This record gives sequence, structure tokens and C-alpha cells, in this order.
Amino acid sequence: MSLADKDRIFTNLYGFQPWNLKSAQARGDWDKTKDLMKRGQDAIIEEIKASGLRGRGGAGFPTGLKWSFMPKEPRADRPSFLVINADESEPGSCKDREIIRHDPHKLIEGALIAGYAMRARAAYIYIRGEFIREAETLFAAVQEAYDAGLLGKNAAKSGYDFDVFVHRGAGAYICGEETAMIESLEGKKGQPRLKPPFPAGAGLYGCPTTVNNVESIAVVPTILRRGAVWFSSFGRENNKGTKLFQISGHVERPCVVEEEMGISFRELIEKHCGGIRGGWDNLLAVIPGGSSVPLVPAAEIMDAPMDFDGLKALGSGLGTAAAIVMDKSTDVVQAISRISYFYKHESCGQCTPCREGTGWMWRVMERLRTGDADISEIDTLYDVTKQVEGHTICALGDAAAWPIQGLIRHFRPELERRIRENGGALEAAE
Ligand code: NAD
Ligand code: SF4
Repeated sequence: MSLADKDRIFTNLYGFQPWNLKSAQARGDWDKTKDLMKRGQDAIIEEIKASGLRGRGGAGFPTGLKWSFMPKEPRADRPSFLVINADESEPGSCKDREIIRHDPHKLIEGALIAGYAMRARAAYIYIRGEFIREAETLFAAVQEAYDAGLLGKNAAKSGYDFDVFVHRGAGAYICGEETAMIESLEGKKGQPRLKPPFPAGAGLYGCPTTVNNVESIAVVPTILRRGAVWFSSFGRENNKGTKLFQISGHVERPCVVEEEMGISFRELIEKHCGGIRGGWDNLLAVIPGGSSVPLVPAAEIMDAPMDFDGLKALGSGLGTAAAIVMDKSTDVVQAISRISYFYKHESCGQCTPCREGTGWMWRVMERLRTGDADISEIDTLYDVTKQVEGHTICALGDAAAWPIQGLIRHFRPELERRIRENGGALEAAE
């Protein structure tokens, strides 16, 4: 199970060719876009549904289904909007950045087609503040599209008026959460809203809104050109298509690569990364989907299918498909403690279990790292992660809890060893 070059959607992922409009058109982007749109809004939504595309931002919600929640006849005083989430901030994730750097026209053409399908008047691309050069590229690519008549009035001669605005974030991880992003776009402090209502019911300025990830939108034109049957011929039921994987950490050659969903971890690493540093026996564990998902020990991940269901079955998740590979030189407790610090730092502070819990969990993690703890605190920590999980406004609480749960599930003996060697258990018993 692995992808042939001819089946890659992102043909300029490594920037061997220029990103500009002329090059993008030579690669097939913006080719008869008007004809794709002529198929009609409902037909486009049905085709995306049939393709099996699931959101590529991490949660995997079916994309076509999400579009179908948008009103078919938006009111003039309540226009619909598409918001594209380019606030890629998940530790380990670096795929949307590559799309914007080297293939921005796939995203812009996708924005027009997706926006048209959901009857949106405009798309807002919210780009991570730290992506300075990427934002420059995106602004320039959008301008090129306007200059060529591909955006604005009668976009791509389709008879549909559509604008694309690029909005730069200011460095807050939480603004990648869709409702915090909407708040931020409205000029407010980026704090998540309670859901429901979901954005399709009340989103940007209270209007119907769909928030989609960059990769989800950028693959749309190719799916329509090649067909839902082609896209869904990759992967397996419920886990269709191709996907950008990002492999970092202790492999010979870290990379971002497009592969078939469901490729085994072993094949992904052998084919594209030159193997594990020091060989497969040296693999300790992998965080397979960006820092929000639990780690998976070496023995379990090796032959696992890299897709939503395959990783869920291991108690983890595909997330953004950002695999962080850790060999046996890794201090795994320190690694998870550092992730805990990240979530403590990025919590917006709005709800108590997250605001208080992330700091508390990190402080205990730090003591477990040095062994300055009681063995009973491992269970207490696990209990607290369960109190945080599912009891917060947004998924950041879960994301802070899950990596610690994974550590305790798979590396309890290592935690106990540190405490014993430090005499922590002894002190507590006295
Ligand atoms: P979610 O499951 O709450 O929602 C996913 C999407 O589906 C949203 O757009 C939501 O509006 C929609 N949705 C869900 N249920 C719905 C319903 N009943 N009706 C209508 N729409 C519905 O997840 P989330 O909080 O948006 O995302 C969490 C994920 O984000 C995590 O799994 C993590 O992997 C990922 N993440 C990614 C990054 C990144 O940099 N790309 C950063 C942090 C987290
Ligand atoms: Fe803010 Fe955390 Fe609550 Fe999310 S879970 S709204 S980040 S306090």
C-alpha cells in the first residue's frame, strides 16, 4: 500500500518549481475551474461526500457533510462565510506551511470552489502569526488570482462573486480552535465558544460559517477533476484518500510526504525517512498525530495502519498525521512533561479544569520526571487527567490530558523506577 507519483495531489510539495500562478497553471491548477463550478453547488458537495474526504486538521469530521450544514439560500443580511484554518500550531505539524509555501494556488482555487459550493460570499484565511514568509507568499498569490480575474467579481468567469481575505494571527495556539479563530477574526480575544451552536448555525459575525483546514480545502479541486472514485480508491472504508504525513524526530531523514491513508508506519518510515536512527530495535515510541494524541510504544506502532481507525484502535489517533518519532535515547517522561508545559502555557484560562488542571498536571509531571514524588501520585495524576478530559469548553483540555494518560498507560514502570531511585516511595511510606 503506497502511493505512485502520478497519484500525488501536491506535485510541488518540495518547491522544485515556483509557486506562482504561471507555474501552478502549468501543473494543472485553475484549469477550467469554471466548468468544475458549473456542475452546481449540490453536485460538488455530493462529490466531496462520495470521496470520503475527512477533515485534515486533526478531528477528521467528514468534509462534505460539514458543507451540507450551510444554508442553501443564505439571507442577504446574513451572508455565509468560509474560514480556512492556516493557524497550524500543533507541535509536530508542518504540512499546511508547505502547501502555502509551494502550492498556494491549490488552496486559493479550493477556496473559490468550496466557497461556491457552500454559497459563501468570501473566505478568510487565518494564517499563523509566526508564518511570516508564508503569509507574504499567500498575500502575493491571492493578489495574482485577483489580477487574473480568478477572484473577485465574476470569479474565474463563473458568474459568482467571491473574495478571499488573508488574516494574520498573533501567536496564540488557541486561535487554531475554530470558534476562538472566529472570535479573533471579529477582533476579540481569541477564546473558544461553547458548541453547539456549531459555526454553520452561528459563526463569523453570527453568520453561517464553515471552518476547514488548509489541506482539506487544497485537495478539493483535484478531487473534483479526478473524481470521487479516484480519491476513494486510496485507503480503506472510513479512511479514504491520500494524506500529508509529517515525520520528525529520530528518523534518518525527517520529511513531509503525501502517502496513501492506511500505509503502515514501518513502510512510511522505510520508504521516505531512511529508517529509524540506529535501526528498528532502537525505536522507543511514537506520537503519531501531533502532540494532542497519546504516544504508542514501538511494538504496537510498527505495523499499524496510519489512519483514523488504525490509530484509534491503539488508543491514540491520526490527528494531523504528524508523527514524532522517539528512539531509546529519549527521556520520554521529560518529553511528555514538556508537552504538558506547552498546554499550560497555551490554555486560554477560560474554564477551571483546564486553567488549573494544566498547571497542576505539569507540576506533577515535573516531579515525576525527577522522581520527587510518591508512587500513589501516578494514580492521582491519572484521575486528574480524567477529570479534565471532556469537562472543558474546547479540546485543549483533552489534548493536555491524553499525552499524560498515554505515558502512564505505557511507561508506568519507568515512572515508578524514578521514584524508587529517588527514595520518593520510601519517604511517603514513613
Ligand atoms: P471537533 O471534533 O469538536 O470538531 C471538528 C469539526 O467538526 C469542527 O469544525 C466542528 O464544528 C465540526 N462538528 C463536530 N461535530 C459537529 C456536529 N454535531 N454538527 C456540526 N458540526 C460538527 O474537534 P476540534 O476541536 O475542531 O478539533 C480537535 C482536533 O484538532 C484534535 O483532534 C487535534 O488533532 C486537532 N488540532 C490540530 C491543530 C493543528 O495545528 N492543525 C492544532 C491543535 C489541535
Ligand atoms: Fe480555554 Fe482550556 Fe477551556 Fe479551551 S479548555 S476554552 S483552552 S480554558
